[in-house]
Amino acid sequence: MAIKVTVWNEFYHEQTNEKVKAIYPEGIHGCIAEFLGKEDDLVVRTATLEMPEHGLTQEVLDDTDVLVWWGHCRHGDVADEIVERVKTRVLEGMGFIGLHSTHKSKIFGALMGTHCSLRWREIAEKERIWVVERSHPITQGLPGYFELPHEEMYGERFEIPAPDELLMIGWFAGGEVFRSGITYQRGYGRIFYFQPGHETFPIYYDENVRTVIRNAVRWAAPLNKYEPVVAGLHAPEPLEKL
Ligand code: ZN
Repeated sequence: MAIKVTVWNEFYHEQTNEKVKAIYPEGIHGCIAEFLGKEDDLVVRTATLEMPEHGLTQEVLDDTDVLVWWGHCRHGDVADEIVERVKTRVLEGMGFIGLHSTHKSKIFGALMGTHCSLRWREIAEKERIWVVERSHPITQGLPGYFELPHEEMYGERFEIPAPDELLMIGWFAGGEVFRSGITYQRGYGRIFYFQPGHETFPIYYDENVRTVIRNAVRWAAPLNKYEPVVAGLHAPEPLEKL
């Protein structure tokens, strides 16, 4: 069965910054949806901040297996009600892929429970991403390392809870390192955070980056239907005779 993917973007820089608009004329969401949409097993839609309910109505979320998120300077404009709705769906099994500056989004913070702050520097330095978990579904098809000629530096310490899995470590020409590809489980939901994706560089055209996002979407798709544990309605009978 096809995996239903919703790509969400605040879609702000692409409308206000000529440099970003030139790289992503259809928006970052449009670029990601375009390459994901070429996959036979994926059905892709997009949603943006300015849409009613940010494009994330209950109906849309109930029909989403994996939500991909890109946000940066308008995190504060995302309604708390929608954040809570997304979080509930993640706990019920919807996969969540947080890209780049999503680290400071309300929803990522709500899922992590920590500040998620980091060190950063914007001088277009080279990043080398080391794949440290070669046997993971998300890293299939990647070389041992790959490079992005220009990226914003994100450096440790990244104020996150210890990841369930550390798949990739980014090294920057200025000397810093960063946990660039990490996974978490929250409730039934699988979460992947992936650091590359500063808006003024054509990061989402990079073939290795695309491989990671394609793999991550498939990895994060729910396996089992959520079954709530209803506590306190009755005390179960013991399975053994006592
Ligand atoms: Zn950035």
